[in-house]
Amino acid sequence: MSATNRRQAIESASQHITPPGSLPNDGKAPIDYYGKDVFNASAIRKYLSRGASEKLLATIQNGAPLDPSVAGDVAHAMKDWAISRGATHFTHWFQPMTSGTAEKHDAFLDLNEQGEAIMTFSGRNLVMSEPDASSFPSGGLRCTFEARGYTAWDPTSPAFIKRNPHGATLCIPSTFLSFNSEALDKKIPLQRSISALKQALLRFMACFNEAPERVAVTLGAEQEYFLIDKAFYLQRPDLYQTGRTLFGAPPARHQQLEDHYFGAIKPRVINFMAEVEEELWRLGIPAKTRHNEVAPAQFELAPTFEELNLAVDHNMLTMEILQRVAEKNGLVCLLHEKPFAGVNGSGKHNNWSVTYGSRNLLEPGKDPINNRVFLAFLTALIRATDLHSDLLRCATVTAGNDHRLGANEAPPAIISIYLGEFLSDILRQIESGDFRKRSSKHALKVGVATAPNIEGDDSDRNRTSPFAFTGNKFEFRACGSSQSCSEFNTFFNVAVAESLDYLSEKFEAIGNSDDFDDQLRDILAEVLRKHDRVVYNGDNYSSRWIEEANRRGLPCLKTALDALKPLLNPKNCRLMEKYGIFTTVELESRYDVYSEEYLRKIQIEGEVACDMARNIILPVALESYDFLAKTLKTVRDLCENPKGVKGRKVLETKFETMGNLVAQLEEKIEKLAQIGAANADNCQEYIQTTRDLRTVVDVLETLVDDRKWPLPKYREMLFIM
Ligand code: ADP
Ligand code: MG
Repeated sequence: MSATNRRQAIESASQHITPPGSLPNDGKAPIDYYGKDVFNASAIRKYLSRGASEKLLATIQNGAPLDPSVAGDVAHAMKDWAISRGATHFTHWFQPMTSGTAEKHDAFLDLNEQGEAIMTFSGRNLVMSEPDASSFPSGGLRCTFEARGYTAWDPTSPAFIKRNPHGATLCIPSTFLSFNSEALDKKIPLQRSISALKQALLRFMACFNEAPERVAVTLGAEQEYFLIDKAFYLQRPDLYQTGRTLFGAPPARHQQLEDHYFGAIKPRVINFMAEVEEELWRLGIPAKTRHNEVAPAQFELAPTFEELNLAVDHNMLTMEILQRVAEKNGLVCLLHEKPFAGVNGSGKHNNWSVTYGSRNLLEPGKDPINNRVFLAFLTALIRATDLHSDLLRCATVTAGNDHRLGANEAPPAIISIYLGEFLSDILRQIESGDFRKRSSKHALKVGVATAPNIEGDDSDRNRTSPFAFTGNKFEFRACGSSQSCSEFNTFFNVAVAESLDYLSEKFEAIGNSDDFDDQLRDILAEVLRKHDRVVYNGDNYSSRWIEEANRRGLPCLKTALDALKPLLNPKNCRLMEKYGIFTTVELESRYDVYSEEYLRKIQIEGEVACDMARNIILPVALESYDFLAKTLKTVRDLCENPKGVKGRKVLETKFETMGNLVAQLEEKIEKLAQIGAANADNCQEYIQTTRDLRTVVDVLETLVDDRKWPLPKYREMLFIM
């Protein structure tokens, strides 16, 4: 790290800026290759016998239990298909309790009894594997003497091909569990929660005399990210060790002009996006929307929504592909929630809904006040959110997300629901029993004769709400960009299942009585009166809301470690046990894993900051101090009456300021080193000391000769691309 390196990085980044109009166009249409690297229905039909393919598709499409006798045939077909797509290896691809995915490859290649090379892949290879996976976090679920972990095929998420420059690997989406069938991953609880919700929903719909239909929980995960030139990244140990800049003074211009959001996309970036999309489409991931985000160098990718389990897998793959393609283009994709202080951070918006047959249950329809299923379902969601907001908050905990939540760019740590005036008014009518007609659509006028008339959404957007009803889905916005969507959706599904069951029990009691509709309204009114405190349509960033939320008794779990504690709450343990999602032991293990991961990240940040301050910043500050000292001495030596020399005063002030800063720098470094390890008791102090150290370094950055500053500056990282 030196000023020379920094200049070279600027030089290198500027050489990679792509001139406009340099995009190659080889005429490939996405429809020609969409899903080609996925063992999807058409590949299944092509490579499997009719009988076997029907059985497998029944499991994939309708959730039928898998007939174990087909595993051998499926493995054979999958192998032939994968080899035809260039694969040499296979792997169970799973999602342990880290922030990423895991894979361990085995070659199809084996030797037969004659010692000749053959390509094998058996039903057993497909169905399960026993990786020596003893180093994954388990929160004490696996003692090392019986550290066996098993991965098991998830047939509902199709196998896919992951390519590398020298070949490809067949990836089999899998779950990861212990010898005692305890969940060691994020997929098992998610799948358990989906089953629980489906079951509860069938019961709920039966109360309205609805015939059983296929239920699908859907997710559209909007992914935000930053891109910077790799040359800068390599000059920033904080970035490559922690994912965020631990130092960096705000540049004069960052996002104040609001000109990046939805702005024209730079050629180098759109090149990157196009390449990402091509890879995603090959994998059957329906990337749909791309745009510039609020902060400079920040972008978003949103797919078309899919079934939850698949959508979560696809989001994990999307994050991986964003990073890989960036690397190939001399860029780095930062998925951290707050890579740069002072500008917006990145979130992941979870758009959630449920379909029953072909019907979206969150679609209010033309006449919502008479849409009984919609109103009852909405009431269940409100009750679920109010009763279990602590779990939803818990699902947002990461060391990175700490910098986002409540920072006036993301929802605060208080979970509330935004419904918009239109729906809120309907709920008020139900609560009061006073029904008035209100026009449902909001007309928009362009004010130009040639422009068509358009209708606005019933609910306007409220960007400050953590959980907003957006037309026909709920959008949970508090998750961090680097997180898996699993936790939030697991918790929310269970919470909703419980509320559906609560309402179903009441509806079942009124049975098919003649005044079912009146009684139904009474039930909903009672539930709403109790739980509508979680609805808030105002500005979630205002201090008024914090006071108001306090008055309403809504939990506000400010620190990450507090926000994890609901995992140990007996009320939540009972809920999870009742729905078969987690045993108390599994929940406790998760608490251990997540709190430990959090503390380790805080500790790593402190150590990196300490190290950089001591070895990169302090030497430069001392050099600067030395230079000022020498200059001052020269001035004093040169002149008989140095007091008369213009500029002497300035020099003296600068010398003194620099001396103070050097002393403060040393003091903060020592303090951090003295605290030593971050733990549950000193965590806030540790974080604050790391922050104090940053404050000193950032002031130094503004004072030290720009030619000598060793770290790429914000203005360079955010703007040269
Ligand atoms: P925003 O305005 O917040 O950027 P969009 O309206 O572009 O959001 O949609 C965001 C996401 O919501 C997309 O991924 C989209 O596929 C998803 N979405 C739309 N309908 C549903 C649904 N019924 N269930 C789940 N996600 C949905
Ligand atoms: Mg959104």
